[in-house]
Amino acid sequence: MKPIKLICCLQRFTPLCVVALLGFLEYSFSYEFSYKCVHPRSASIGLIVIFNVLLTLIFGLWFAVLYSGPGFIECQIPPYDLDSFFKNGQKYIKDQQKGDCSAKNYEIVTHKELLSVPDMFICNFQGLPGWCTTCKSLKLTRAHHSSSCNRCVITMDHFCTFLGGVIGQKNYGMFLGLIVLMNFICLFSFISIFSLRKSVNGTHPTTIICVIGCITFFGMVTNLILQNLLQIRHNETTIEQLAKGDIKRAYRRIKKKGIYEKDHLKRIATYVNLKHPSIEGIRLVVPLTVEDYPYDTGSFIENFRCRTSRRHASLFQDKKVIAVASHQEVSKLFAEKLLERIHKHEIEVTIFGKESIET
Ligand SMILES: [Zn+2]
Repeated sequence: MKPIKLICCLQRFTPLCVVALLGFLEYSFSYEFSYKCVHPRSASIGLIVIFNVLLTLIFGLWFAVLYSGPGFIECQIPPYDLDSFFKNGQKYIKDQQKGDCSAKNYEIVTHKELLSVPDMFICNFQGLPGWCTTCKSLKLTRAHHSSSCNRCVITMDHFCTFLGGVIGQKNYGMFLGLIVLMNFICLFSFISIFSLRKSVNGTHPTTIICVIGCITFFGMVTNLILQNLLQIRHNETTIEQLAKGDIKRAYRRIKKKGIYEKDHLKRIATYVNLKHPSIEGIRLVVPLTVEDYPYDTGSFIENFRCRTSRRHASLFQDKKVIAVASHQEVSKLFAEKLLERIHKHEIEVTIFGKESIET
């Protein structure tokens, strides 16, 4: 068996391991510690009830995360209507080369079957948006094709090996609630055992294993919560953050080799295709570095709302609604700052149409 296949095979059993661990926690905390060692009986019953309510909530939320699903793009989204802009860009470059610098607008021919182009959207270096060849659909800015679901997921965050499901726009809020609850049950078990350790008669070895397990799990989940809070701060998904990490490492390697002396300073993560601020019918392609956060609204609460809104997931069911939704993807704050940087010539711009799109 190939190593990748073996890892995939083992990944399938990870949720069962988590269930087994929670089962062990239930046995050691409720039975070995609370029932056998804690007195009076009322305190023992109180601990068992609180622990089991928390455990039931955990399993309930886990079921809800998997049952709700991450949120899928339910229809095939046609490409953006970029044809005129591409041809206009080529004309504009030729005009510039001829020395024709007179300010003029360029004609835009629209195609009904294609999606109208938003003022700004995330693209590749050629200025083109992502396209899913499996779903035969436009990959709107934050959609990602999940190989485990074989569909494009809206604002996909990651595939959670421990829960056995994909986390996306629709179940991200529930996922956050679940990890907070898991942290809380570990903290509750640990504090209960630690504070009552002097009043109980002898400690069963499973209780000691339970304490070690709680501390380890608490540390791991706290790290996960902190990571998610940092991501929400800039309105980033785990996938986006990991991609930036790969880029940072790649540029660090370039810097070490000293091949492209200035290129390592750029650290380009992605590009934005946007309307030319003054010439109608022309679009620009602008590089973004790892320090740019195109979805950051500037407010933690607003970012949190944006990441956890189930209403946002419901916008991707119908082509007409998608056309409107696709116009609101890059945050207003980012759009304003980017236009300001272009105006001040602080950022390198390329005319859309300059790069050939033939592969
Ligand atoms: Zn897809």
